[in-house]
Amino acid sequence: MRKIALEEHFAAPDFGQYEAGVELMMKEQDYQHYRERLPEFDEKRLAVMDKAGIDICVLSQTSPGLQAEKDPLLAAVKAQRVNDFLYEQIQKHPTRYAGFAHLAMHDCATAIKELDRCIQELSFKGALINGHTGGVYLDDKMYEPFWERVVELKVPVYLHPADSFDTPHMYSGYPALKGAAWGWTVETATHALRLIASGLFDRLPSIKIILGHMGETLPFILWRLDSRWQISKHSLELTQTPSFYLKQNFAITTSGVCDDAPLKCAIEAIGIDNVLFSTDYPFESVPLATEFIETAAISESDRAKICHKNAERLLKFAAL
Ligand code: MN
Repeated sequence: MRKIALEEHFAAPDFGQYEAGVELMMKEQDYQHYRERLPEFDEKRLAVMDKAGIDICVLSQTSPGLQAEKDPLLAAVKAQRVNDFLYEQIQKHPTRYAGFAHLAMHDCATAIKELDRCIQELSFKGALINGHTGGVYLDDKMYEPFWERVVELKVPVYLHPADSFDTPHMYSGYPALKGAAWGWTVETATHALRLIASGLFDRLPSIKIILGHMGETLPFILWRLDSRWQISKHSLELTQTPSFYLKQNFAITTSGVCDDAPLKCAIEAIGIDNVLFSTDYPFESVPLATEFIETAAISESDRAKICHKNAERLLKFAAL
């Protein structure tokens, strides 16, 4: 079955410095495995795709990238550089690769300008943003023009995990809890809920945010979110329940979760049209991810939607 994968990472030259936090989190041999694969776009990556039966990978700069750059001017320059670099790689294999823009979110006007260039000139499919930038989340009022432009361009924004701005005390003594095993999920799900709580989707109801990792646990807790939301004090009253926005304004990918139970939960909770295949290369096993989706206990029409049809619609790929 045709497969389009959306959360597939690379590392651009001169971006290794941002990965110190990721490196600290991982066992040395695993980090080495990733470091060897991230900068490579040719034989090795294509062989993995061919063997697993993945037709197209939408590539993105690995986390955290420029979201961790402290100098806004340098970030703006490097954003153009990484997007040009990605464009060059895509041109070498245009039928196999597509791209998500990497944006310096330090300054809204700069981010809009680069997003415009990436979508209109480089034909990228949207943007992938690695969480907060210096502790500023995407619900910040300064980003309102950015979201308006996202709506005009009709592209999705992939919200990808990164480290929290500060480390919560509750993780003390257990370093594994603050990283990809758990802390990134808390961070990214909370970021998604900030977008909902800010009323962004009441103002701009056609925005589509993509979350990886089977929705960062959110599909599992829709009922409780709605139930406890209504008795909680809010800085802004929403017109709908949280679950309404999670169904209307979010899609999720299967990246890094190869398990039938959460897949079925996600389909049931936010709808089959909002579930898309991904692997999280090179951090997860591509053969495992593809075997999982090929053999998952779902109907063939649901499998086709997850593997390629939803991506064709949401990212505007030609349907074959
Ligand atoms: Mn990832």
